[in-house]
Amino acid sequence: MINLKQFEVWFVTGSQHLYGPETLEQVAEHSKTIAQALSQSKNIPVNVVFKPVVVTPEAILEVCREANAAKNCVGLITWMHTFSPAKMWIAGLQALQKPWAHLHTQYNRDIPWADIDMDFMNLNQSAHGDREFGFMSSRMRLERKVVVGHWQDDGVQTSLGTWARAACAWHDAQGARFARFGDNMREVAVTEGDKVNAQMRLGYSVNGYGIGDLVDYINEVSDAEIDQIIQEYLDQYQVVPSLRPGGSQHQSLRDGARIEAGLRHFLEHGKFKGFTTTFEDLHGLAQLPGLGVQRLMADGYGFAAEGDWKTAALVRAMKVMSVGLEGGTSFMEDYTYHLSQSGMKVLGAHMLEICPSIAATKPSLEVHPLSIGGKADPVRLVFDAKSGPAVNAAVMEMGNRLRMVVNQVDALPADEPLPKLPVARALWIPQPDLKTSAAAWILAGGAHHTGFSLSLTAEHLEDFAEIAGMEFLLIDKDTTVSGFKKELRWNDLYYHLAKGI
Ligand code: MN
Repeated sequence: MINLKQFEVWFVTGSQHLYGPETLEQVAEHSKTIAQALSQSKNIPVNVVFKPVVVTPEAILEVCREANAAKNCVGLITWMHTFSPAKMWIAGLQALQKPWAHLHTQYNRDIPWADIDMDFMNLNQSAHGDREFGFMSSRMRLERKVVVGHWQDDGVQTSLGTWARAACAWHDAQGARFARFGDNMREVAVTEGDKVNAQMRLGYSVNGYGIGDLVDYINEVSDAEIDQIIQEYLDQYQVVPSLRPGGSQHQSLRDGARIEAGLRHFLEHGKFKGFTTTFEDLHGLAQLPGLGVQRLMADGYGFAAEGDWKTAALVRAMKVMSVGLEGGTSFMEDYTYHLSQSGMKVLGAHMLEICPSIAATKPSLEVHPLSIGGKADPVRLVFDAKSGPAVNAAVMEMGNRLRMVVNQVDALPADEPLPKLPVARALWIPQPDLKTSAAAWILAGGAHHTGFSLSLTAEHLEDFAEIAGMEFLLIDKDTTVSGFKKELRWNDLYYHLAKGI
């Protein structure tokens, strides 16, 4: 399981010597108070650590270098309580390799109308101090999140918390390892990509493993461990009678438990954070891994099917961002449509591999034939997903850049029961409507595989995309197809030119 409290965000306040030691002491006191309040905020999942106020180029460079080297520091929050001449920041920002958010706040919420004097004005001047810092950041063409408002406001803390979650996911991706069992599903385009480029730009490595390597782990699983996992299944799920001990298909459940344990051992041994499978390469496996994949996803592993390593890494990032939030996050695929004039909807599912973190009720553990792959009937968890606002996100390789597209959707219960559908599923209405959403998604080259989350907002993904230097496209209630087309054309130009700026 992933623990975000192990991570720190450093609170760095800029100022200058001109104000004298008394004012600087006050600046430091205020900054400490703010850092502490942010650290204790229920909306910020990491520790916010106060750092001494910086007033020289040397001190700024030093704190940025320290942040780069600090293992648990996922990023910086910067704030200019007073004026901090921004040429002092050039060397530090050039060196800084961690993401940062620029908090544009003021210690005092209100203007003290009756008492305000020039001392107050000189102390509380972030209104222009932060603009000077903003100019430098923009002049250097640096990506950062700007959060505006009083530091005690819920909205400000939520926005910083959202960014901190994205920074944690970015930190988690650096040096992360993803295992690919088998290659890509043959002839599929969108799941391909440049793994070298991804490692250079996104920090994670993807390597292939022969299915035989996994089979070795699976064959070594002991009966005692299988017994223990079967007991977990019986405790956690509604297990159909034929799969229960003594049932006619109990052996299928034992095969499923063996695959789960083997997969888990393989991933733990290699310190992997996610993996892909493909039904075209299952030599030595009794069945396509379904149940085990579902449960590993619930434990925080990134996963995508058919060799789709970009989506596996995306699902892992979404898992990290959503730690402690209500809802759930899963690998997903737009599967089939309800195109009724009375309300068009998408039914999302996959052959097997949907994460039970999004289940509305206790999942049913069942076994059914799989019409693809030519293996024994795989065991799987079947359930309906929860309702509520959700996001669907995909990452594609566009040749000269990585593109993320996100659709805001509203998940809802099925119109009627689905007694013959043997897989976990989610139903949603995409914003602004299915016609606009699907047209925009397709024009963006959006993948059929996604990360689906009832925990995250589009803001989490936008913050992550910005940190990662990815193009970010949002399809939401305000999207029109003609406006979206223009955005695609402008972005093509922008990303062609931006490297020269
Ligand atoms: Mn698929």
